[in-house]
Amino acid sequence: MAQIAISGLRKIFGKSCAVDGVDLTVADGEVMALLGPSGCGKTTTLHLLAGFLKPDGGEIRVGNRLLSSPAGVVSPEDRNMSMIFQSYAVWPHKTVFQNVAYGLEVRRVLRAEIGTRVERTLDSVQMKHLAQRYPSELSGGQQQRVALARAIVVEPDILLLDEPLSNLDANLREQMRFEIRRLHDATGITMVYVTHDQAEAMVTADRIAIMNGGRVEQVGTPHEIYEEPRTAFAASFIGRMNILSGTLVDDGTVKCGPLLMRATSGIPIQRGAAAVVCIRPQHVLIGPLATGGEGIPNTAAGRIVRQTYLGEMRDYLIEIAGAPQLRAITDPNVRHEIGAEVTIELPPERCRIVAA
Ligand code: ATP
Repeated sequence: MAQIAISGLRKIFGKSCAVDGVDLTVADGEVMALLGPSGCGKTTTLHLLAGFLKPDGGEIRVGNRLLSSPAGVVSPEDRNMSMIFQSYAVWPHKTVFQNVAYGLEVRRVLRAEIGTRVERTLDSVQMKHLAQRYPSELSGGQQQRVALARAIVVEPDILLLDEPLSNLDANLREQMRFEIRRLHDATGITMVYVTHDQAEAMVTADRIAIMNGGRVEQVGTPHEIYEEPRTAFAASFIGRMNILSGTLVDDGTVKCGPLLMRATSGIPIQRGAAAVVCIRPQHVLIGPLATGGEGIPNTAAGRIVRQTYLGEMRDYLIEIAGAPQLRAITDPNVRHEIGAEVTIELPPERCRIVAA
């Protein structure tokens, strides 16, 4: 069983706390993405998992085995984990075959078995035909496939990936996301995948842990994180989001400056407390200016300050007196000129109250 249980994990460098009480469980065979901005503690968490660092607090268990705690750390070689780095880290003087075979040779696997396992693994990353090439004769994407093959040929319980695609160009990156997911589905290896790229996390992961300031803000499936964010940070980190700050005046009602907003809520908030209402740009409706609508919840008069045609859609920026500007995304055929006075509608079922 390769279930990972992280509890109360802390790592301090000098005066700064890089990992500040992380609790996270990764199920056997699951892909968990650690997603967050630069410096939020993703890589430190991964290095703690790999056994490169000793925690200052908390513990890491895999199955029933305690691997890390402030009292001690099981060495990286004894964890049966493989790691893939941003830099492909393949040996330049070894062929593709030799690169992949090396881990098995170190483990003294029989020669005949090495041949079979290396070929099968190269086949799974679509590199069998290039087995005799040297890394200098490969593209970046092909080198990263070699790194993947080398990591999985030793049949680790857990595969740790640290921004594995960030050195690839955009097209290859997109393709490799699907390949990593396919490789997971074929092998069933438990994976922890560090990235700051939301699309990469959404394609590869079963669940995403959103990290911020050394802590996990929310864990959920890509669908849950996108549709049901619990904090303003989680809401704005995945996809585009309009954020309106205000005060909870009644259950499901927030006063955001001049706007009275009815919204669904995923978290308990006291009346009178600060609250944030989120709505995605594609759910903001723009209509012709209506008179006499003042004070109607979830509507406001606005003025178009920017409109951009993007082929598949139109992207608007709308100014509302006393409130932050709102982004709206519409069908490309919906046309409002810059300066036009409009009424915007924010459907309550699309508005969500999250923690301030
Ligand atoms: P990035 O996406 O930029 O790699 P990250 O989320 O992986 O960021 P970490 O590398 O885990 O972030 O760093 C978390 C914090 O800990 C940062 O403030 C970083 O400067 C600090 N940090 C990381 N490693 C060390 C170290 N060896 N010594 C001192 N500070 C460190």
